Amino acid sequence: MDPKDLQINLLLAVLKEIEAKYEYLLKKTERLSEEYKKHAYYDPLTGLYNRYSFQLLLELKLRKATRKNEKVAVVFMDLDDFKKINDSLGHTEGDKFLKLVGEKLSKLIRKEDILARLGGDEFIVAFSYNGGEEKVVKLVERIHKAFEKPLKLEGMTVTPNVSIGIAVAPMNGNDVSTLLKKADMAMYHVKERGKGAYQFFSEEIQQKVIKRVRIEEALREGISSDELFLVFQPRVNIPDGSLAGAEVLLRWKSKTFGDINPATFIPIAEDTGMIYKLGSWLANKVKGVVEQLNKLSRRDLRLSINVSVKQLEKPDFYDEFLSRFVRSDRKMNTAIEFEITETLVMQKFDEINTNLKKLKDLGFGLLIDDFGSGYSSFSRLKLLPADGVKIDLELIKDIDRDEKTYEIVKAIVSFSKVLGLKTIAEGIERESQLSILRDMGCEEAQGFYISKPLTEEEFIEVIERGKIL
Ligand code: C2E
Ligand code: MG
Ligand code: MG
Repeated sequence: MDPKDLQINLLLAVLKEIEAKYEYLLKKTERLSEEYKKHAYYDPLTGLYNRYSFQLLLELKLRKATRKNEKVAVVFMDLDDFKKINDSLGHTEGDKFLKLVGEKLSKLIRKEDILARLGGDEFIVAFSYNGGEEKVVKLVERIHKAFEKPLKLEGMTVTPNVSIGIAVAPMNGNDVSTLLKKADMAMYHVKERGKGAYQFFSEEIQQKVIKRVRIEEALREGISSDELFLVFQPRVNIPDGSLAGAEVLLRWKSKTFGDINPATFIPIAEDTGMIYKLGSWLANKVKGVVEQLNKLSRRDLRLSINVSVKQLEKPDFYDEFLSRFVRSDRKMNTAIEFEITETLVMQKFDEINTNLKKLKDLGFGLLIDDFGSGYSSFSRLKLLPADGVKIDLELIKDIDRDEKTYEIVKAIVSFSKVLGLKTIAEGIERESQLSILRDMGCEEAQGFYISKPLTEEEFIEVIERGKIL
């Protein structure tokens, strides 16, 4: 070949290669920019809009709605118990679950509505409408209905509950961040009240949520600065009126809010995880009281301690809580009883069963609290390693005034006997209630008629005096 031709051929080959490379790079750049766009505007897991695009699109929707005199609903959804799915089935299944939720939601909305995943298990829909709020309610009900059908995951089906908070423009505001904040607040309120429902934002809710957040902060502060203390409400043996022991109850005198009762702050402590810290704190305090009882040679007295299901559900329940009550002489463990509420014990039976068994194996007592307030299946009750039931004060309240209540309590006492369970009545405020319970054969009594909850000093004094009624 002519050397010149060779050169030209070589040059052409090089050019071809450069062209191919260029083409390849161009394609790659295009692909990357597509990917980049996707990641910047879409949630890579579900393919829905992400928070950033949601905000942009909502802004546009709000402007358009103002021009057309329309309303815009912002519907904030949070999946209940998603964390549990992630923890028990793993992240791959957790991701699959979120994807399925996204698909389900996509089917419920119109093309012009905005659906996004804000992150975690939070989804959001915004849509414009005319007229009354029944349009929003309809969508929310459709969402709840759609989630009644279980989702299939590896090895199990899950029926997710969705808590929904709603804010509406222009009533609740006309800018993106206000509407998001208010819808979130309404959602938070739903979670607090028991999940799986929906709620429109209102000023009242805002006040409640703000107050709750403040109480939360105050409680965190209160635990570390010793604003909490224990009181002891005596329990007596009905046949002879002798002291049987006491229920240990938490009290909180907040610097900011004054007295706050446990019915308010225990649920907050449970939701925020502060209950575990409270548990350790309480265990240390109770230890001191037990030592005092030893000194007074009253090892026969029982202290009953309320435990939350949240505590019992934790795998480290023994290490972090229960172990602190274990006595060197194991036989003495019987002097401590744990109270757990009926409704929760039945709902979470499988989750807490192992820890309940452990508690029993160590010799501690187990009482079913507020018995008669929820519903128990007899077969489950039979399976529970319980020693006794505390009959709910709502039933005791009317025992001397209402025939039906009387019969119910009588039945509880008699079937408890059949199952070998001790019966303790709480909330006794009159002699007439006590005497009925005595006739029924109920074993122990607790209530203001016998004694109000006492401070530690007062309780020790009662023991020393040896008399209560
Ligand atoms: P509970 O365990 O059923 O406690 C009995 C409640 O009834 C106590 O309210 C007690 O003060 C009240 N009570 C006692 N006698 C009478 C009476 O004759 N009449 C009326 N009307 N009420 C009476 P308290 O102390 O406000 O506790 C409320 C709930 O808070 C407790 O219900 C228990 O579920 C929870 N709680 C209290 N302390 C603790 C704790 O240390 N840990 C946990 N997890 N929960 C606790
Ligand atoms: Mg109790
Ligand atoms: Mg109770």
